[in-house]
Amino acid sequence: MERIDKGKLYDQLTALARQTQTLAEEVVSLQQQMSAVLQENVELTIENDRLRQTIAAQSHETTSNGLTASRQNLQNLYQEGFHVCNEYYGKRLADAESCTFCLDIIYNDHRTKG
Ligand SMILES: [Zn+2]
Repeated sequence: MERIDKGKLYDQLTALARQTQTLAEEVVSLQQQMSAVLQENVELTIENDRLRQTIAAQSHETTSNGLTASRQNLQNLYQEGFHVCNEYYGKRLADAESCTFCLDIIYNDHRTKG
């Protein structure tokens, strides 16, 4: 059996541990960036919906399920797992979490019409 160079083995393990740590830090950094991008995307979508809602305020068109197009969009976002409420705006919902603020915004008949 080949003789093991313990010093070399130790050095290799140390180097590997360092690389692993660097890689882990990069993964965390990427996760944070992705999370920020996702949140920004949701925020922009919500902003967009609000602008559309303002524009469509005069027309009372609703989709087949009785929601206005902009509320339908909010409902879609909510079902994809994002808060659409002012309180948590763009944050992710936990699995199977429901948010009364969000549901209020999607389904309650706020009299926003002029
Ligand atoms: Zn919410």
